[in-house]
Amino acid sequence: MGQPTAEKTGARGFDHIDPPDTEIYLDCVHCGFCLPTCPTYLVLGNEMDNPRGRIYLMRAVDEGKAKITDRFVEHMNLCVLCRACETACPSGVKFGFIMEAARGQIERNYQYPPKERRFRKFILDTFTDLGRMSTLTSLLRFYQKLGLQKLARSSGVLGFFGRLGKMEALLPPIPDRQELPEVMPAKGEKRGRVGLLMGCAQRFFLPQVNEATARVLAENGFEVVIPKDQACCGSLLVHEGERERGKGFARETIDVFERASVDFIVVNAAGCGSVMKEYWELLHNDPVYRERAEAFSKKVRDASELIAQADLNGRLRELKLKVTYHDACHLAHGQKVRLQPRKILKAIPGVQLVELAESDFCCGSAGVYNLLEPDVAQKFLDRKIDRIKETGAEVVVSANPGCTFQIEKGLKEQGLNIRVLHPMEVLDGAYQGTIPPQP
Ligand code: SF4
Ligand code: SF4
Repeated sequence: MGQPTAEKTGARGFDHIDPPDTEIYLDCVHCGFCLPTCPTYLVLGNEMDNPRGRIYLMRAVDEGKAKITDRFVEHMNLCVLCRACETACPSGVKFGFIMEAARGQIERNYQYPPKERRFRKFILDTFTDLGRMSTLTSLLRFYQKLGLQKLARSSGVLGFFGRLGKMEALLPPIPDRQELPEVMPAKGEKRGRVGLLMGCAQRFFLPQVNEATARVLAENGFEVVIPKDQACCGSLLVHEGERERGKGFARETIDVFERASVDFIVVNAAGCGSVMKEYWELLHNDPVYRERAEAFSKKVRDASELIAQADLNGRLRELKLKVTYHDACHLAHGQKVRLQPRKILKAIPGVQLVELAESDFCCGSAGVYNLLEPDVAQKFLDRKIDRIKETGAEVVVSANPGCTFQIEKGLKEQGLNIRVLHPMEVLDGAYQGTIPPQP
């Protein structure tokens, strides 16, 4: 059992550092319109695992009627932070902000049991440390090349490693690293100068997505700057409540892209883009960075958002492909980007886009949710794979690395030979005349 740290919880259950904004949760009129869109409510069927119930719990703690207990933490942590409730809410409740703030309170004012604390620390420290990620992916590439992965998976030995074994199941084939140049010149008439965020998971596990994004941007008239000194953007930390550490990475990211003097900052990972568009909220109490964060957030664009602003460069070749599109939560609900990736796919000659039922229902990835809550995440994944099977598509298009790993795992579990590609990989494929081979 975890413990509230008594010295930090007072008469009101939250401390004074970024508590959930009362103004936001008072907007909730308890109408329940969000309930049918909440994945945890649909799967778990518990009132405390829907937005209305979670707001009720936050309010009880804020008013000192309840404390940050195991039960409170469980209901907050079971939320996938998909923000589907924000899309559905007629009162405009900004649920993402209050949930991130509530998790910040948990992080400071609650002691996880030692085993859980160690696991969370390992996950968050690893994914946000580029040096550690580089070493880890080199070792994992070696593990795959030596055939040890096949052996481990077929022997069933991974079952003895608990959540680490489940993490292994998400591992994609890791390609050799290719260094991107610091600047890629625009082709044809120049439309602007953009900075490309490399991300953490994307940079190390799916470098081909960054390469494709840079090529597509250059092909469509953008000079692409890829600052070598960029670090993690902090999104994972913000989602998991480590707001102070997240703020540090946010300040660093702002510094890096200010130095690059770019018109836009392009992101191809939905979770990162969503938090970067909201740095203004994260740093609103920071006198040095507040205005700079506002200016920065206004410049952030998802890659598909920027590319779809104008007609695509006409040198597209035919790709005979039946594809379906999965809406990553932080792109569809967090950034309201839904039409642009579809517009791009429809513009490619030969591509047949089949709509996916429940396309914006969470696949269970949700940052590191599938590592922290693997059993619930699996329920979401099974539902997503069932919907994908109905489409008959040979490619699932996903604009978030976490969703890609999760959906690939689900497809593999069911023996389905369906690729998962980023919209920029499909578009790049149209410029190259073929989609990329499986790494
Ligand atoms: S963010 Fe998603 S999982 Fe969390 S309460 Fe809202 S709809 Fe439910
Ligand atoms: S839809 Fe909005 S106002 Fe209605 S219960 Fe959900 S969060 Fe509250």
